Amino acid sequence: MRLSRYFLPVLKETPGDAQVVSHQLMLRAGMIRQTASGIYAWLPLGQRVLQKISQIVREEQDRAGAIEVLMPTIQAADLWQQSGRYDAYGPEMLRITDRHDRDMLFSPTAEELFTTIFQNGARSYRDLPRNLYQIQWKFRDEVRPRFGVLRGREFLMKDAYSFDLDFAGARHSYNRMFLAYLRTFARMGVHAIPMRADTGPIGGDLSHEFIVLAPNGESDVFYHENWEAGRDTSGVDADDAAGLAAWIDALNADYAATDEMRDPAAEAATGAALKQSKGIEVGQVFYFGDKYTRAMGVTVQGPDGAAVTPLMGSYGIGVSRLVAAIIEASHDDAGIIWPEAVAPFKVALLNLRADDAACSAACDKLYAELEHAGVEVLYDDRDERGGAKFATADLIGIPWQLVVGPKGVAAGTVELKRRGGDRLEMTAEAAFARLTA
Ligand code: ATP
Ligand code: MG
Repeated sequence: MRLSRYFLPVLKETPGDAQVVSHQLMLRAGMIRQTASGIYAWLPLGQRVLQKISQIVREEQDRAGAIEVLMPTIQAADLWQQSGRYDAYGPEMLRITDRHDRDMLFSPTAEELFTTIFQNGARSYRDLPRNLYQIQWKFRDEVRPRFGVLRGREFLMKDAYSFDLDFAGARHSYNRMFLAYLRTFARMGVHAIPMRADTGPIGGDLSHEFIVLAPNGESDVFYHENWEAGRDTSGVDADDAAGLAAWIDALNADYAATDEMRDPAAEAATGAALKQSKGIEVGQVFYFGDKYTRAMGVTVQGPDGAAVTPLMGSYGIGVSRLVAAIIEASHDDAGIIWPEAVAPFKVALLNLRADDAACSAACDKLYAELEHAGVEVLYDDRDERGGAKFATADLIGIPWQLVVGPKGVAAGTVELKRRGGDRLEMTAEAAFARLTA
């Protein structure tokens, strides 16, 4: 992408109404604009990051055996009356009336809809287990939307819903998602700690929140210091139910709990290893058994012919919140530092003298070669000073800067710099090889 043809409205000044660094940087880097309280337009750079995160979430959901669908955002109130949540959900639900005076709502979550859709397509125990998911916008009329997309009103969520025949199966489905979440966040360069959590309006008796430690987080969390190290999930077999359960139990032997779920005895046993921090909730998994299937009269025919009420869990990831959470965890004074897996572009190609024919020709050639090799390049071909180009590339956090100036072109060299690291001088061929390795 040539910057001269892109839409990247960066801001020089830090907007006064943005309190946390991720919100400030997302506005300054031209990623989002607020259009109403807690509602944001995603500009090209922000949309690219949202897509990168969504794709990692999608790949790990698919790998865990979940199946992607897409549900409507607007739902009929009847569905929610069947589960009893229409009245219980409260003012966070945006209620809408259509022209025929029918009560509708903008989905804040989708247990009821997935339960109905599942019932519609499942007849017998052979249709179990299943896990259906979507990546779809949600609306919650938060009493205090704040911190940009960290707590918006409209936000992008991955939500999955599992259906099982018995408790052992349901527990395995929960564990599969637990593992998938560890893998998902690790791939994004984010360290998210699973913590015992309260179930809130979703209900049920088993839940974990996945928390990224950050000074600007809204949750107070308590955990064993062992959790500060990442966990290697590479050898874990998600199909081995007993092995997976044992692996997760061993992990959870180290205490980790949110404020509502603190356990004084476990904290005493943790002793000096107990840490306290602020954290951002980036995902949550719930097991709630037959809460929705029973209320909505959902059954399938069991192996012996008798009707069975499937047991469910649901599993959310805050896709748009993650964009900000990653920035909270990865930035410096100059701007964002994207982990490569979620970066909007891999390379910023900086032409230091767009008015110099030889320099521009060298840049054009590198740009064409990198694009041809499938590398995502943002080519700063604007007629601007070098300083401004460095500042923009730093602000928007592109992992690599490939710097081309007239002196280097004459000497046959370019400079390659890791965002936040040192500049290394090398031939264009060497830089190309490094970027395509
Ligand atoms: P919170 O406690 O932060 O209000 P929640 O527990 O109500 O969130 P869940 O129902 O667990 O949210 O939704 C799944 C995920 O969606 C959360 O883990 C979070 O990452 C994300 N999420 C929830 N509310 C918001 C919001 N207002 N803005 C952005 N992301 C959100
Ligand atoms: Mg939650």
